[in-house]
Amino acid sequence: MPRVGVLALQGDFEAHRKALERAGAEAVEVRTAAELADVDGLVIPGGESTTMLKLLRMDGLFDALREFGARKPVFGTCAGAILLASKVLSPAQESLGLVDMTVERNAYGRQIDSRIVKLEPEPGAGIEGAVESVFIRAPVIREAGPRMKVLLKYEGAPVLAEDGRHMVATFHPELTGDTRIHRRFLEKLAAG
Ligand code: GLN
Repeated sequence: MPRVGVLALQGDFEAHRKALERAGAEAVEVRTAAELADVDGLVIPGGESTTMLKLLRMDGLFDALREFGARKPVFGTCAGAILLASKVLSPAQESLGLVDMTVERNAYGRQIDSRIVKLEPEPGAGIEGAVESVFIRAPVIREAGPRMKVLLKYEGAPVLAEDGRHMVATFHPELTGDTRIHRRFLEKLAAG
């Protein structure tokens, strides 16, 4: 059984841990570089990316995470996707640069900043049927580099995509009972 870490500094790590367990993985919370060294893949949850970034730097985890991502799969959701991006706008902030994309924070507007929509997968995504997607103050992926494979789109922009061993979602797959997205990430761990 793959052993997956969930970065547990801030945000909705608990919901991800439960979703990974429902998907059949052993899931553990990661707060230190030593704990990170002990897992086969990592989920970075939603929350507040600026706060998470500060905590990552304080705990010396920022560089450890970058090195981890050079070898092992990382799945970032919402704030986690912002942290994985190569470029962050609105406002600009430092990021891990593990996924070849530019993201704009809080880009769906302030009036309606949360919504639930059903999305049909892109052709060739390998996902059967619609995916219920919960957006909460979500970022928008403004540019996806040539390595990216887009699996789901909303209003023309990618919302679920892969860059090699890594995955990003601008919505919250941990908040529905659907385990397909987490299972897809677990397949990446199995692939090594
Ligand atoms: N708006 C948040 C940020 O910029 C992300 C929101 C979320 O993770 N639900 O970090």
